Amino acid sequence: MKVLVINCGSSSFKYQFINMENRQVLCCGLVERIGTDTGSLTHKKAPCTSDEIVFKEEREFATHTDGITRVMSLLTDAEYGVIKDLSEISACGHRGVMGAEKFTKPTLVEPGMLATLDDLSVLAPLHNPPTIQGMRIMSELLPCPSVAVFDTEFHSTMPEHAYKYALPNDLYTKYGIRRYGFHGTSHRYVAEQAADFLGKPRDGVNLITCHLGNGSSISAVRDGKCVDTSMGLTPLSGVVMGTRCGDIDPAISNYLAERTGKTVAEIDKMFNSESGLKGLSGMNDMRDIHAAREKGDQGAELAFEMFCYSIRKTIGSYYAVLGRVDALVFTAGIGENDDISRAAICKDFESLGIALDLEKNGQRSGEARSISKPGMAVDVLVIPTNEELAIAIATMNVLKAA
Ligand code: ADP
Repeated sequence: MKVLVINCGSSSFKYQFINMENRQVLCCGLVERIGTDTGSLTHKKAPCTSDEIVFKEEREFATHTDGITRVMSLLTDAEYGVIKDLSEISACGHRGVMGAEKFTKPTLVEPGMLATLDDLSVLAPLHNPPTIQGMRIMSELLPCPSVAVFDTEFHSTMPEHAYKYALPNDLYTKYGIRRYGFHGTSHRYVAEQAADFLGKPRDGVNLITCHLGNGSSISAVRDGKCVDTSMGLTPLSGVVMGTRCGDIDPAISNYLAERTGKTVAEIDKMFNSESGLKGLSGMNDMRDIHAAREKGDQGAELAFEMFCYSIRKTIGSYYAVLGRVDALVFTAGIGENDDISRAAICKDFESLGIALDLEKNGQRSGEARSISKPGMAVDVLVIPTNEELAIAIATMNVLKAA
């Protein structure tokens, strides 16, 4: 069984083609800057972990459909491809962003489902339309079934008191305004891997999972189910991120509009793309932040401090939500690779039963591992996320059950 996973963003998409028998990634790639004349396609063959790009094309990809059609021809290309015929693809798994309350489980893609998803585009205008476009074109190009796996699914178990906002009730009933959460496929995957690592049943662990990448979110997991998460109606809320501000006083929006005359769209762009680490320091990549801190850059120092502080506050509040925590889990670009951030986040947490073994924290590994001091009440784990594999597994499970 070979599953093609497609992850459509607003102006790009990533793909991975996975052999499910041995979980090897046969090829993978990225099409970027769709809709501009500086578009590019990069394609790698196994082992896809290497930096070696076997094929690169720089040209305009007018639409996602254009890019996907090109990738399909690459998959069967005599030199760069990995299969002879597209019929060798057993299934296609799509990353969906916003499933809202309609899609709380991985779902077979069919016309009725696409129409419902289209209705949800109002809640995710940047993400759902390209995802739908991807699903439509894959259904046309490939004879195999497609399954959608949504970022919001894992968070659908949150209780009402966690997902509702304290706003007039009809904003929820009429417009669906509530906390949905994102990065759910990653939170679920690392929560399950953490349970396996700890030797506990997947429905018997209490965890705080920290997905710290360019976008970051934190989830509270009780008995394997999400009970709260830091992102909300959109991915803007929660902790300080690469370019997003995270939680701020909602009145700032109004105040800014009045003082500067900026439009709602301009303010939205500022909060999403020009804030967070970037807004504070001019840099959104954590490696650049560390390099600048070493040179004494005060803006970078403050950005790092605020990033860690916002995460520490969230961990503390989720500790209170859960009462008992088996493990604190770090994942994604910063969570997996940045021992400096992990050490700063966990500093002086002994009274919560959390303390790092600094030597283990400093070691590098692509495997799931514990970085906690022995004997602490709460284990601290680093678990590499793998959203594409999680989507491929969920896709196979839907098809097996069908
Ligand atoms: P996203 O998928 O949200 O775009 P990633 O999960 O790839 O983001 O994470 C990107 C972040 O991870 C960047 O801030 C980057 O600096 C950071 N990162 C990646 N590798 C390292 C590393 N070795 N040390 C510190 N930070 C790293």
